[in-house]
Amino acid sequence: MNKVWLITGASSGFGRALTEAALAAGDVVVGAARRTDALDGLVAAHPDRMEAFRLDVTDVLAVDAAVRDVVARHGRIDVLVNNAGRTHVGAFEETADDELRALFDVHVLGPAALVRAVLPHMRERRSGAIVQMSSVGGQMSFAGFSAYSGTKFALEGMSEALADEVSDVGIKVLIVEPGAFRTSLFEGGRAGFSADSGVYEKVSRTRAYVSGGDGTQAGDPAKAAALIRAALDAERTPLRL
Ligand code: NDP
Repeated sequence: MNKVWLITGASSGFGRALTEAALAAGDVVVGAARRTDALDGLVAAHPDRMEAFRLDVTDVLAVDAAVRDVVARHGRIDVLVNNAGRTHVGAFEETADDELRALFDVHVLGPAALVRAVLPHMRERRSGAIVQMSSVGGQMSFAGFSAYSGTKFALEGMSEALADEVSDVGIKVLIVEPGAFRTSLFEGGRAGFSADSGVYEKVSRTRAYVSGGDGTQAGDPAKAAALIRAALDAERTPLRL
């Protein structure tokens, strides 16, 4: 049976690549973003299987309503992808609280609200997958990335606990840790770190490291999307690009 995906941040980068990969596989995608017009082309190409949903993941009330609405109209959510993201590169002491809060809202509190909203439904069905888009920065940090990494460490810690809590009811939690990819998040080579020497690789029951580029040589989000799909279907999948 084809899957129903709810993908946040579907309007660009990894979210869009995952959306395109799911559509190519015949699945149904509800692509959530603030700029839904960026998804007009995909909706026009797949009118029965692609829906653009305007959602700001930092609006917790809107998140609850969105999940109820999607389940009511599509009958289920098989895969939730918490992918929406933003970045901030700056020295620790120059990172203002407002920026820290904005990052935590998008990378931690928004995903937490989405997980809380979908879990009762997935528990009832005793199946489902939750993909948490973290980063190599969720396992190690680099100068200039204290705020960004802080949010991804938090997301990973919460997600590991979540994986333990729901594995016995058939719900899979996959933490994805991409290296540097040339999406709009790090365009212009702002990701000037080289986390991708191949030294760092970790694959486990809940974790998929997706090696990208080094900030100048871009990783391909479409290839990453294919590997994430493969990881969802496998217990232990060595992921390298
Ligand atoms: P993009 O900037 O291309 O995409 C970010 C997406 O998030 C956009 O679709 C944007 O859509 C959406 N978004 C941002 N804020 C919100 C919000 N408040 N509510 C809903 N949607 C929002 O970046 P990437 O594809 O690179 O990033 C996707 C994920 O991958 C992020 O979590 C990022 O941390 C992670 N990642 C990226 C890496 C890279 O090298 N690019 C490396 C490691 C991890 P809109 O503006 O329309 O709302």
